[in-house]
Amino acid sequence: MKKTILLFALSFSWILFNSNKTDRLDEGMFPLSELKQVDLKKAGLKMDPISLYNPNGISQIDAIVRVGGCTGSFVSEDGLLVTNHHCAFSFVHAISDTINKYVDKGYLAKSREEEAPAKGLVCKITVSYEDVSSKVLMRTQETNDPVVRLQIIAENVKAITTEENKKNPKLQCEISEMFTGRTYVLFRYQLLKDVRLVYVPGRSIGEYGGEKDNWVWPRHSGDFAFLRAYVAKDGSAAEYSKDNVPFKPVKYLKVNPKGVKENDFVFILGYPGRTFRNQPAAFYQYHEKYMLKYVSDLFNWEINYMEKLGENNEFLELKYSAKIKGLANTAKNYEGKLQGFRRVGLTDKKKAEEKEMQKFLESDSELNKKYGDVIPKVNKLYDEIIRFAPRNLFYDYLYNLSPTFQFAAAVDNYKTSYNQIKNKEERAVFLSKQVPRLKSLYQKLFAQMDPSVEKPLLIKMFADAKEHNSDNEVNAVVGFYKKNKTDEARLKTIEKFFTKTKILNSTLMMEFLADSSDAVFGLNDDIIKFAHEMNKEVNKYDEQDRKREGELNLLLAKYVDAKSEFKKTQFIPDANATLRFTYGYIKGYFPNDAEWNKPFTTLTGVIEKEDGKDYELLQAIKDLYALHDLGSYMHPDLNDLPVNFLYNLDTTGGNSGSPVMDADGNLVGVNFDRAYTATINDYAWNEAYSRSVAVDIRYVCWILEKVAKANHLLTEMHVVN
Ligand code: ASP
Repeated sequence: MKKTILLFALSFSWILFNSNKTDRLDEGMFPLSELKQVDLKKAGLKMDPISLYNPNGISQIDAIVRVGGCTGSFVSEDGLLVTNHHCAFSFVHAISDTINKYVDKGYLAKSREEEAPAKGLVCKITVSYEDVSSKVLMRTQETNDPVVRLQIIAENVKAITTEENKKNPKLQCEISEMFTGRTYVLFRYQLLKDVRLVYVPGRSIGEYGGEKDNWVWPRHSGDFAFLRAYVAKDGSAAEYSKDNVPFKPVKYLKVNPKGVKENDFVFILGYPGRTFRNQPAAFYQYHEKYMLKYVSDLFNWEINYMEKLGENNEFLELKYSAKIKGLANTAKNYEGKLQGFRRVGLTDKKKAEEKEMQKFLESDSELNKKYGDVIPKVNKLYDEIIRFAPRNLFYDYLYNLSPTFQFAAAVDNYKTSYNQIKNKEERAVFLSKQVPRLKSLYQKLFAQMDPSVEKPLLIKMFADAKEHNSDNEVNAVVGFYKKNKTDEARLKTIEKFFTKTKILNSTLMMEFLADSSDAVFGLNDDIIKFAHEMNKEVNKYDEQDRKREGELNLLLAKYVDAKSEFKKTQFIPDANATLRFTYGYIKGYFPNDAEWNKPFTTLTGVIEKEDGKDYELLQAIKDLYALHDLGSYMHPDLNDLPVNFLYNLDTTGGNSGSPVMDADGNLVGVNFDRAYTATINDYAWNEAYSRSVAVDIRYVCWILEKVAKANHLLTEMHVVN
């Protein structure tokens, strides 16, 4: 694939740092445009840096794939790709039932014909990028209204992407905001829409230790999976069809089955999702004091509830397993972040730094004129955000966690807009455009609707909201309590929300949602009436939120500029699910007082952990261990099979499944997690506490060869002949 990078005239001077400092930077999720700034040779890279990313030829990045919200990499000329078990989990869950227990036993396609579609999974490859900031910000100077400014930005983004997509019908073009309100980059992606499951190990390998070990080191998890991308015969992206053929990537990674050792240089290319390192102090205060705690408590409550439902019920246990896994992953991560906030004293540090920054800005009349009011204005906006946090979090998560309520609210919103249109033709246009949207929302949400969890959730959330102070009163909930004075009455009313609604009857709903029909707006269930009450207040506050968002968008653009002046440096843009490079070394660390963590775990550790409860192990693995049958994958210094390893790279969610590569660019591991102390690095990265975790390629190969008996995959990857 030939790269057409149109960027050079506009090179982003995002980062600026001491050019002879090459061992380890403070943080480093480098956009491709900044790779040239790092002396990678000096850091330990043996391959030619141009072969990492070459806009005019084939390079390492051509083997890197965005796999849904994760990352993966091609490992064969036939579109075989490796990612994480947890990234493939929902797809294997979708084809499992109590008879075909693929979730527990694993899924292995012995031939290409047996490869099962990972329904709904879309993969992307970055083809090129271009700075489009000036085009995105065009005409924004013409208005002083922050909401209008945001609208102009949104319109510009839409116009640019529409034009680009027309010019490149085979690609998908997207604009990513690199710095809020300030820097925008257009990315062009090649899409792969037919992706199939090749090998996904069972849970006892793929998530050994389950939630107990998630975000934890020492770790012993085989968190890897193999998928294959398919395309139409002419090479174009196509939805699943049995006539499709394996995709031929222009580049795939060579596996290094000898792996790496302590202190070796390694690097990652991947799609880190979201970090928040360039935010004002008040943002951290809001996250620490409100958001993280609210969400982790609520998710933990829901997890406990679902776990109880699944006790002694195999069907329900399987049904809730994917949802529990997702919620638990976030809840524990947020708890880790809260620990990090406390240990680092992050909010206070940010506040102190901001005070200094304000002093600095005020000491120079030019700077003061330009930026002197930025921090006070940001703080004023955040005072409001913090003041109304309980109410807004309640709204967000009610809509988010109850799909039935969410759909009821959507019907009511569409209905309100529809009723405002008086002209017959305009009504017809509205129906032809909006009803299909509502239908596709329904199709997405219906699979998640589940009264047995949603009912108790509403009861709990309403009870919590009832305790809000007067600033945060939720009128609809207050009204609900007035009408339903006892627990029994409240239970009955909520029961009726779900028993009386037609929303849970999908056959009927499909009729109501027929093209261009207004039948769906005739629905007037109790849950829709309640959603109407809720929408009224949410929509009122939404207007204020949009205004605040518009003001912040502009202020944050200035904030980053002001901070660059203060620090005499520029910053790497926060992660935003675009392709990034990070590098460092295989290294242990002290996570807690007096506790040294070595960088490798071993098969011996896997065996030691086994307890038949939280750590269940296949007999085959125990037998192989007893025979000391490590194949050719032993770590020479450890005299054991390496299972997972640690490194001081800068990664976050979305880097799941990213290839960890050695100095020659060969695959030596698959990134899947961070240590508990590293979860805070979304807000602030630090070498002392940030360690990421990969499954060692030697463990992957050993499982393939000895446990799964998938030698055909090792042959395909040229690990064995
Ligand atoms: N396991 C992580 C995730 O869930 C990866 C990470 O955040 O480092 O995305």
